[in-house]
Amino acid sequence: MVGVVYVKPEKHNTYCDYPFKQISLKHWNKNKLLEYTPCCMMMDYGNNMMQWKGASDLDPKEAFESVRFDRLRNDLKSGVKNESCKTCWNSEREGITSPRLYSMEHDDESTFELRQLDLSISNKCNLMCRMCNYGSSHKFLKELKFFKKNNLLDRVKKATSDYYVDESYLPNSLSSKQFDWLIDNTEKIKILKISGGEPFYDDNVIKLLSKYVSDNTAKNTILQFNTNGTLFNDKTLNLHKQFKSIDHYISVDGVDQMYDYIRYPYTFKKFNNSILNYVNLPNILALRFACVISSLNILNMDEWLFHMLSLSGKHKYYFSFQKVRPFDRGISINLLPIKLLEESKDRLLNNDYSNFYSHRFFDDCKSLIEIIDGAIKHNKCNRKKMLEEITLFDKSRKQNYENYLDVKLVDWLKNE
Ligand code: SF4
Repeated sequence: MVGVVYVKPEKHNTYCDYPFKQISLKHWNKNKLLEYTPCCMMMDYGNNMMQWKGASDLDPKEAFESVRFDRLRNDLKSGVKNESCKTCWNSEREGITSPRLYSMEHDDESTFELRQLDLSISNKCNLMCRMCNYGSSHKFLKELKFFKKNNLLDRVKKATSDYYVDESYLPNSLSSKQFDWLIDNTEKIKILKISGGEPFYDDNVIKLLSKYVSDNTAKNTILQFNTNGTLFNDKTLNLHKQFKSIDHYISVDGVDQMYDYIRYPYTFKKFNNSILNYVNLPNILALRFACVISSLNILNMDEWLFHMLSLSGKHKYYFSFQKVRPFDRGISINLLPIKLLEESKDRLLNNDYSNFYSHRFFDDCKSLIEIIDGAIKHNKCNRKKMLEEITLFDKSRKQNYENYLDVKLVDWLKNE
C-alpha cells in the first residue's frame, strides 16, 4: 500500500502524518501487545483509545491496514477531530504546539506507506538514575531490596510522592510476534524508533540491527533511539555506520561529579568517552541531548550547556529539558527556595555563550528559563522533603550529597 498524500499538518487543519506512515507498539502486558496506535501520544495511561481487541494476533502491517486505522486517517484528513487524538486537540486548545504539528519533522516525504515503527522494549538498563524507577530500569531491584530490608520503602515512596514503584509495567516485547515480524521485514521499516530501558543494553536489539545489516537494508534506514549514550563501543558503532543516518536522543543530566551522582553507578568519564566516539560517526543527522531538570542539577546547568555545546562541534544540535516528575517529589525544583531558583537563572543568563549562538540555542534556553520561572511561580519550598529524598538514596548508594551538589544548595540543605 503506497500512495501519495499532499496535505501537511497545520494549525488550521486536522491532518497528522503519523497514521499514514507509522505504527507505535507501546502498550504491552509482558510479551503480549495490547494495542496498536499511530504514535506514543495516544497512550492515555492504559485507556484503549483505538478500541483494540486481539491486537496481539495482528502483525504491524495488518494493523496498519485495518479499518480502525482507515477510520482515523479519513477523519484526520477531512477535518474531523477523532476522539483518539484528544492529547493533540487539548494541547492546541491551550495554545501549545501539539505532536501532530511536527509529525513530518523527521520524514517530510508525502507518502502513504508503513515505514516507521516506534517500539518500547523492556526495563533492561545498565543505570539507576536518581529520577528514575524500577518501572524503567531493572537495576532498581537490588535497591528495592535494600529499602525493604531496612524498613525504608514507605519513607522513600513518600519522599518521591509515590514515584518509586516496586513493579514494572514495561514489556518484554523482544520475544513477541511483532518483533519477529520486524526481524523478517527490515526492508519495510525505514525509520526505527526504540525506547527502553536502554536499547543498546539488550542483545535482541543488537541482533535486530545486525539483521538490518545482513539484509542490506540498513543503508535505507534511519535509527532514532532514546538512549543513555553509555554504550557506544566498537561493536555498536560499527553497526551504526552501516545505517543511512542516526538521530538518537541522548539523555544526560550533568557533567563531572553531578553526572556521577545522578546517573549512578556510571561515571562521567566513561560517558564522555562513549559520546566522543559517537560524535565522530559520519552519518549523524543531529545531536540531541535531553536533560531532566531537578533540584540536584539546576544550579549547574550553565556547565551542562557549555559542555554539550562543546561536544556538538560541527553538528546541528537540539537540547530538550523536562522537569522531573512528579512535580511535588523531594527533588523537584518547585521545592527549592526562590533565592536559589533566581540564582540558577542568573547563572544561565550571565554567561557568555556568544561563540555558540544560534537561533536554536536561544529557543532551547528559553524553555529552560521558562521551567525555572514556572518553579518560582508555583513555589512550594520544602527543605525537609528534599533532604529526605536526597539522604535516603545517599544511604542506599553510599554517596554523600555534600561531595556532589552545588555549595549553595548544600548550605541551604544543611543550615537553614
Ligand atoms: S493527531 Fe496527535 S494523537 Fe493523533 S495520531 Fe497524530 S500525534 Fe498522535
